[in-house]
Amino acid sequence: MKIRAQIAMVLNLDKCIGCHTCSVTCKNVWTSRDGVEYAWFNNVETKPGIGYPKEWENQKKWNGGWVRDAKGRLRPRLGGKFRVLAKIFMNPDLPEIDDYYEPFTYDYAHLQTAGLSQAAPTARPRSVITGQQMEKIEWGPNWEEILGGEFSKRSKDQNFEAVEKEIYGQFENTFMMYLPRLCEHCLNPACVAACPSGSIYKREEDGIVLIDQDKCRGWRMCVSACPYKKIYYNWESGKAEKCIFCYPRIEAGQPTVCSETCVGRIRYLGVMLYDADRIEAAASTPKETDLYQAQLDIFLDPHDPQVIAQARADGVPEAWLAAARQSPVYKMAIDWKIAFPLHPEYRTLPMVWYVPPLSPIQAQAEAGTLGTNGVIPDVSKLRIPLRYLANLLTAGNEWPVKRALERLLAMRAFMRARHVDGVEATQVL
Ligand code: SF4
Ligand code: SF4
Repeated sequence: MKIRAQIAMVLNLDKCIGCHTCSVTCKNVWTSRDGVEYAWFNNVETKPGIGYPKEWENQKKWNGGWVRDAKGRLRPRLGGKFRVLAKIFMNPDLPEIDDYYEPFTYDYAHLQTAGLSQAAPTARPRSVITGQQMEKIEWGPNWEEILGGEFSKRSKDQNFEAVEKEIYGQFENTFMMYLPRLCEHCLNPACVAACPSGSIYKREEDGIVLIDQDKCRGWRMCVSACPYKKIYYNWESGKAEKCIFCYPRIEAGQPTVCSETCVGRIRYLGVMLYDADRIEAAASTPKETDLYQAQLDIFLDPHDPQVIAQARADGVPEAWLAAARQSPVYKMAIDWKIAFPLHPEYRTLPMVWYVPPLSPIQAQAEAGTLGTNGVIPDVSKLRIPLRYLANLLTAGNEWPVKRALERLLAMRAFMRARHVDGVEATQVL
């Protein structure tokens, strides 16, 4: 057993309001520079949508992440049979700028100087990269929300129902949720394995994955290999860049910028203790639907005296041990099992965890089926299909997500009874 500490994050999707404050504050601090205009270390996607960059979840397209070969060993998916040649001469699986978007800016002075017109603002956006005025914006990091705007615009002068059908399908059956995304600081990072220059590394002390800018040669293998598409190529410096988990702030005992500025207060930071010797076996678990459980089995109980003694012997500092004992991430992911890794089937063992959203069950609450009578509603009738959440969080294994939703519903009923309905908590559960 080799014990290491890892800083991790839980995001409670039930509380995300999609305000993008996290993305903007992160951008202002880390990527408001030439060459990374299109880079969003943190972005918020409206799901189900194809995300940013387009179709990042389509691993057959990008050849990202890990696969098991015929002998059951873990191999990078990158490059197929021409992998070696591809690595030396080119990288065939890179997203292009159109898969992201062409960043634009506004000529704000023009807002003051332009003549009167029927619609404001009159200043057209300008491409940051080419400097050209842009006639229309076809794609952006938040496209799915723009689609909503398109709906209301077109429904003004066209048949409402026809537009509704065309854009949304059957409106009453649609659902949406917000998914804030950042680098997962994986325990088994595909980006580290793919880098021919050895410039990407996982910090021994806290597990943060970083790129050594002096060593990076701009191969961009990491961009292809990362199944979450969370590495960006800086066209100005010719180097790759990614989320650094605000390590200068973490070292100073402060939260990441996205956590501190989150309007919905959905982000929790914490330390996890894990057995580094179990990583390969967990990532190679044969059945994809077992990967969530295999990932859980890597983590160790920070209250167990034997674990603490071994962690001390392995050099984990006292402050990190104390943090691990109080970790909300450990509580939510391991104790309560209400937080899940994103797409565990990519086999990178991601360390950003998500509490699935409950909000769409509101309709049931209004119908009186989510009462304070101790009866938990049927989670298979949630507006967001259980299958969809399971495909996102547990490689299709529905029962852990179902159990988490039931726990969340029970807690909601309990809190409502205590604080809203004025009923004694003991009568509820
Ligand atoms: Fe590497 Fe982050 Fe991608 Fe994981 S999510 S493979 S750590 S860039
Ligand atoms: Fe969601 Fe918080 Fe980001 Fe707003 S700041 S989009 S609530 S994660």
